[in-house]
Amino acid sequence: MSDSSIPAYADSRKIFQQEENISGILDLGRLPRFRKTLANDQGSVSLELKFSLSDEKKRLIEGRLQAQVNVFCQRCLKPLAIELADDIKLVLVQDEEAAQRLGADMDPWICEDYKLDLAELVEEQLILCTPIVSYHDSGDCIHQQHYVAGEDATENVTNDNPFSVLRSLKESDSSD
Ligand SMILES: [Zn+2]
Repeated sequence: MSDSSIPAYADSRKIFQQEENISGILDLGRLPRFRKTLANDQGSVSLELKFSLSDEKKRLIEGRLQAQVNVFCQRCLKPLAIELADDIKLVLVQDEEAAQRLGADMDPWICEDYKLDLAELVEEQLILCTPIVSYHDSGDCIHQQHYVAGEDATENVTNDNPFSVLRSLKESDSSD
């Protein structure tokens, strides 16, 4: 499971004309901003990106992202495995002004020079498709809370026990 097939940068002067495809697995270590939203660094991110020119010579980035990662459950604050999947359809533009000229049905990706940072693009899309809050299935969280309450109850019993056991031992001693 190497991510060496995904270069750090793609050359935007070539990839669209040459209709390149880039696919593979990206290590979470290459996605530090996304990693900060996760409970741990276990998981994987796979991507497929296709670069092409539209009939109007727009530079299209299309493809799909899939990720299995762990976020924090907002109810019990324990890690929760989630799957993310996102279809990508972006138009590469050089600046904010060009982005504004795009139709409402097209999302811009702004890249000011020819070096297109692939991890940054993937990271941004992953952050956008991650739910703001996630919860375990309610059964799993209730089990978690029930377990903690049960543990407390057991502790109370064991705290009382040494004395009552000791007392009963003393009582049986004195009755001898
Ligand atoms: Zn939970």
